[in-house]
Amino acid sequence: MDVNYQCHLCSHNEVESLEHLFRDCLFATRIWAGSHLGIRAAIHHDMTFQDWIINWISFIHKMSNSDDLIISLLCCIWVIWSARTNAALGDNSISLTGAILIYEEVVARILNAKIIPSRSFDYPARNDDLSNSLKFLQSGNRCKFYGSAYRCDQTCIFVDAAWRDDKITGLGWCVKYQNGSSQSFYKQGLPSLSPDQAEAVAILEALKWASKEKILHVVIYSDCLQLLSQILDLAKPSLNTRLLVADILYLCCLFHCVSFCFIPMKRNKMAHMLAQKAINL
Ligand SMILES: [Zn+2]
Repeated sequence: MDVNYQCHLCSHNEVESLEHLFRDCLFATRIWAGSHLGIRAAIHHDMTFQDWIINWISFIHKMSNSDDLIISLLCCIWVIWSARTNAALGDNSISLTGAILIYEEVVARILNAKIIPSRSFDYPARNDDLSNSLKFLQSGNRCKFYGSAYRCDQTCIFVDAAWRDDKITGLGWCVKYQNGSSQSFYKQGLPSLSPDQAEAVAILEALKWASKEKILHVVIYSDCLQLLSQILDLAKPSLNTRLLVADILYLCCLFHCVSFCFIPMKRNKMAHMLAQKAINL
C-alpha cells in the first residue's frame, strides 16, 4: 500500500510528525495564533509536542478562566486534525479562514458565548485607482455582487457602528424585508482600534446574523465609504481592517447573493441611532 507520510496542510514537503502537524506546520501556527489563546507556536522547535502541550495546559491551569481556555486549546487541536483528515481524503478546499471560523463556531457553541473574531489571514495586496472607485461608489450605484445576479427578493440591511476613544464599540443594524416589515438590532462589539474597524465588525455581525436567519439575498448599506471600497476590492485594506474585510468576503460565500451599497450618513439615521444606543449599554 502506498502511504503518504508528508504533511497534507502545507507545501513544504515536511514529514507529518506530531510536532509538525499540530505545532510547526504553517497551518497549525496560524490556527494557534488566531485562536483565543494567541499562542506563538513557531518558537518551540526543540520540544516534543507532548511536552509542549503539557506545558501550555499547566500554564493555562493557573489562569482564572482556565476551563474556557482548555476548551479553546482542545478545539485548536481538533480543527487542525479535522482539516488534515479532510485534506488527506482529497479535499482541496481547506482554507485557513474557513478553519478558524469553524474553530470559533465550535468554541462558541461549547461555551455558549458570542463569537470573537480571530486574527489570521493573508490578504493579497491590491493596487487600484482609489479616486475613481470612490466616485463610482458615491454615485450610489449597486456596486458589486457576490453570487448570482440581482434578485428582487433581497433583504436590505442598514449597518452602522459607533466608536469611542476608549475603544468601546457599538454595533447597529436595521433590516428591511421585501414585505415592508423591519427589525432592529444593536449590541456592543469587542473593543475596536479605529472607527473603520468598528464599521467592519458591524458589517460582519450583520452578515453573521443574516446567515443564521437563512436570509440568502442581502444588500448591505453602509455609510463608511473607505471600508466599502476595500470590501469591493477597489482599495487596499488598511492594517486595521484587512483581516475583518477578509472575513466579510469569506462570509459572503454563505449567501446566494450579497451586494454592498454606499448610503449617505443622513440617510442611515436608524442604524446610527442603534449603534449609539449600543455604545451606551
Ligand atoms: Zn505542514
